Amino acid sequence: ARSVHLVSRPQGEPEPRDFRVVEEPVAEPAPGGILVRNRYISVDPYMRGRMRDAESYIPPFRLDAPMEGGALGEVVVSRSEMFAEGDLVLHNKGWREYAALGEAEARTVDPGRVPSETAYLGVAGTTGLTAWVGLFDIAEMRPGDTVFISGAAGAVGSVAGQMARLRGAGRVVGSAGSRSKVDYVRDDLGFDAAFDYHDGPVADLLAASAPEGIDVYFDNVGGEHLEAALHSMRNHGRIALCGMISQYNATEPAPGPRDMFQAVSRRVRMQGFIVMDHTDRMPAFLDDVGRWLADGSIRADETVVDGIENAPGAFLDMMRGGNVGKMIVRL
Ligand code: NDP
Repeated sequence: ARSVHLVSRPQGEPEPRDFRVVEEPVAEPAPGGILVRNRYISVDPYMRGRMRDAESYIPPFRLDAPMEGGALGEVVVSRSEMFAEGDLVLHNKGWREYAALGEAEARTVDPGRVPSETAYLGVAGTTGLTAWVGLFDIAEMRPGDTVFISGAAGAVGSVAGQMARLRGAGRVVGSAGSRSKVDYVRDDLGFDAAFDYHDGPVADLLAASAPEGIDVYFDNVGGEHLEAALHSMRNHGRIALCGMISQYNATEPAPGPRDMFQAVSRRVRMQGFIVMDHTDRMPAFLDDVGRWLADGSIRADETVVDGIENAPGAFLDMMRGGNVGKMIVRL
């Protein structure tokens, strides 16, 4: 069975040669454990951070060992009372065709509750929870708010924008990296306005899309986007710092937003968060998202790449904006 190893720590933008697809014997599940054949694996921006040998909220990937990440697979051997062969499980040993797991490392999911089982890697999983927690718990979005979301055509952003609309935002504005993504965000996801951040200074593009200012900024990008949002903030605005993908390949710490006094004068609250601290919110989140999926009021688009050998390419492509919605690799 094949797995993907990280073989060198990228400097700047990762390259295909930083990864290697390795053939290894399929591991035996330990007593009480299970063997899972992965059907889908997730590639995510935070994995770029794990390629660095630096202390963070999650340990670095080891070199010359299978990488890790969200995955959805079928139990093919069970030595556990908790799992039956054929069960669909969610776990964190992605980037490989087969995963031997302990009982506590997997969670059974019900494919009947979602339109497609891959939803558990996206809208009904960590991605959706990130959008929901960031918007409603961290940024405390309220009905009537004007909400700005960067990375709006991506996995988290596309879901956050739709959730904002469903919870009664007054105006939802998004930014994305191409004309076709802008059209998708506005026409298919129902954002009120959207712009391509390549079309000029982000501050100008945002001010044109939200002339009355914004109450909430859901930041997936950082850098120029964050600076622009600060300058468009209304008094008592809230910023959820979800991610800063514009800086993930940086080789030196990027400068912060200029004129931070804007945050003082406008009484802005900025808060970073890591979704894993908020798993206690899963049931409340699933109530909302389950209802929205069932009545068709939320879309869960995906970009699917086939084959484990193409997983590194899928990751690299996602980091450069090659995806619409959640990037998933089908094995
Ligand atoms: P996406 O599906 O949004 O994919 C990444 C997207 O980032 C690309 O499609 C690309 O879209 C955009 N991008 C890449 N480089 C730049 C750049 N320089 N400037 C602006 N946009 C860029 O990924 P996710 O939805 O999985 O993640 C979105 C963000 O949320 C990331 O920052 C991630 O780290 C963060 N996150 C945080 C979590 C937390 O717990 N705090 C949990 C999950 C995700 P485009 O074509 O528009 O440029």
